[in-house]
Amino acid sequence: MSNASKKVAIVTGSSRGIGAAIAERLAGDGFAVVINYAGSAAEAEAVAGKIAQAGGRAITAQADVSDAAAVTHMFDAAESAFGGVDVLVNNAGVMRLAAIADADDAAFDSQIAINLKGTFNTLREAARRLRHGGRIVNLSSSQAGLLSPTYGIYAATKAAVEALTHVLAKELRGRNLTVNAVAPGPTATKLFLDGKTPEVIDHLAKLPPLERLGQPTDVAAAVSFLAGPDGGWINGQVLRANGGII
Ligand code: NDP
Repeated sequence: MSNASKKVAIVTGSSRGIGAAIAERLAGDGFAVVINYAGSAAEAEAVAGKIAQAGGRAITAQADVSDAAAVTHMFDAAESAFGGVDVLVNNAGVMRLAAIADADDAAFDSQIAINLKGTFNTLREAARRLRHGGRIVNLSSSQAGLLSPTYGIYAATKAAVEALTHVLAKELRGRNLTVNAVAPGPTATKLFLDGKTPEVIDHLAKLPPLERLGQPTDVAAAVSFLAGPDGGWINGQVLRANGGII
């Protein structure tokens, strides 16, 4: 495929973890990819380098998704590099666990700002700018269904992401754009592993009937399906990619 005819995907928060796996997978599927990050420039460059080495095309774009102006600039950068945007994957997210009684304002504000406002900022831009036939995939979490203690604020942001998914799918009637969410279960990344003992990790890994942690590539495969030709009839849905934990 020539560069001019390549479809273009923005993957937010793709300097590591699930986002990096999604960016690499979509590049392998033939998309030109925008590797977004907030602070981890070197890691984002490494992901872009890996994609280029495998014969794909990628640029990096620094933007804190909670900053609406920065998100607009990221879309501008994607359009000037690749001519347009076809796919948005809203992957950037943070998790700060605490019982509601103990949670501080900063934990609340940061998760709302990045997980919810960040998703809103990119969805608004995508709703205005995505090319006909495009796809949006939002990262929710199986915690929106599991609702475990200490996950209250995080689960609330992901429930909100699922609500935005359903509403936007309807608002885009007539544009041939789909909006779906993928809701992973426990997946072996920094976000999940940080601050957990090996015993807790082992316990959580055994909860799904498939008895292992998800890998970022497991989640990337679900996103690839929804962003690719076989996912075209799926719209307004939440796909739980979690080994059956819920
Ligand atoms: P990681 O912490 O490993 O990676 C998060 C990524 O998001 C990094 O690239 C980080 O880059 C970026 N990021 C964080 N804040 C911002 C911001 N404000 N603007 C732009 N980018 C940002 O997380 P995961 O890969 O585990 O998680 C990815 C998504 O999957 C999240 O939405 C998460 O909620 C969801 N998820 C994860 C699960 C898991 O078990 N891992 C389970 C269910 C859902 P930088 O360092 O540059 O900020």
